[in-house]
Amino acid sequence: MKYKITLIPGDGTGPEICAATVKVVEATGLDIEWDINNAGAEVYEKEGCVLPQKVLDSLKRNKIGIKGPITTPVGTGFRSVNVAMRKIFNLYACVRPCKSYPGVKSRYENLDIVIIRENTEDLYSGIEFELNKPDTLELIDFIKEKKDISIKKDSGISIKPISVSASEKIIRYAFEYAKKNKRKKVTGVHKANIIKYSDGLFLETFRRIAHEYPEIESEDRIVDNMCMQLVQKPEIYDVLVLPNLYGDIISDLAAGLIGGLGVAPGANIGDEIALFEATHGSAPKYKGLNKVNPTAMMLSAVLMLKHLNEERAANILESAIAAVIKEGKYVTYDLKPTRDDPSAVGTDEMANAIIRKIKTLL
Ligand code: NAD
Repeated sequence: MKYKITLIPGDGTGPEICAATVKVVEATGLDIEWDINNAGAEVYEKEGCVLPQKVLDSLKRNKIGIKGPITTPVGTGFRSVNVAMRKIFNLYACVRPCKSYPGVKSRYENLDIVIIRENTEDLYSGIEFELNKPDTLELIDFIKEKKDISIKKDSGISIKPISVSASEKIIRYAFEYAKKNKRKKVTGVHKANIIKYSDGLFLETFRRIAHEYPEIESEDRIVDNMCMQLVQKPEIYDVLVLPNLYGDIISDLAAGLIGGLGVAPGANIGDEIALFEATHGSAPKYKGLNKVNPTAMMLSAVLMLKHLNEERAANILESAIAAVIKEGKYVTYDLKPTRDDPSAVGTDEMANAIIRKIKTLL
């Protein structure tokens, strides 16, 4: 079967890790036509738009895409292209597996945790009221009048909506994921003891939906306790489901447990469209140096192949990546015992080693 997949190379080191990923995916023997369309700051300079319509059209057509990281200016400039795409296509589930691979330096071994983060609401909804603006002052007065709560006049305000419908969708997704992938336990994470009407609603929904899946163990954790537990005994956790902000933070924490962002893949899943991308950003200081680790991007491609039900190609690619990392010879600087190890290879050389391994597994 021939697949047509949208490829968004991104910027910074994105195009390098995408090129390496395309090579290894093709080495599994799958017939893929890459529909290449880019977005981000560099596209803006040429086309006057950070997220051109043709990128959106391509994803709508192909229903599946893989993207390199895209730089987002801090504080000023455009809002995140990544967040925009998640919103436009209602990619409501962000799935981030955090799995130990022997050979990756880490304080822990044998971890296999999957973080499932709600991707569309919470503090990421962009409902923000800027310091000193008339709307902000009006909102402060409104809250005083309705709730008799005084907010300092020199405040900025960000609103945190959490709905029953979006919570149901992500929590059900997490339990279905657990069922499909033969996982044993789902942990719901929240701060319902303090934030009663948004996190409280998430927790209530979690408990209700957990009843529909008696074969899967369920439990809940307050997010601060969750952080400590993950550091102290991560091996007891399996699938975690979280609202957007906690999901964002905990997925970086969990990436740290398995050796860092260089090996943490991700998927953004909607009812119709799925977009796969590494957890890490564009690492712009290494742009064009053929230096960064392509593993997270390649493991995102493994998730993409599983999504296409190409289990064999996915397993071969994952095994080849794992074998190259375990050998430790043809790996990038961050996977060597010290960061200045002269035997470190570049992004492209690591991809070539993985391709050699794939050929032995086909
Ligand atoms: P980053 O992930 O780019 O880098 C954090 C650290 O990890 C840096 O030291 C970097 O060198 C290192 N690193 C990242 N990826 C690596 C890899 N593959 N191999 C080896 N080392 C790697 O995070 P940042 O510096 O906070 O963000 C840079 C830009 O990326 C920002 O503009 C941010 O908004 C954007 N970003 C984009 C996405 C996305 O497109 N999904 C995600 C996160 C950040």
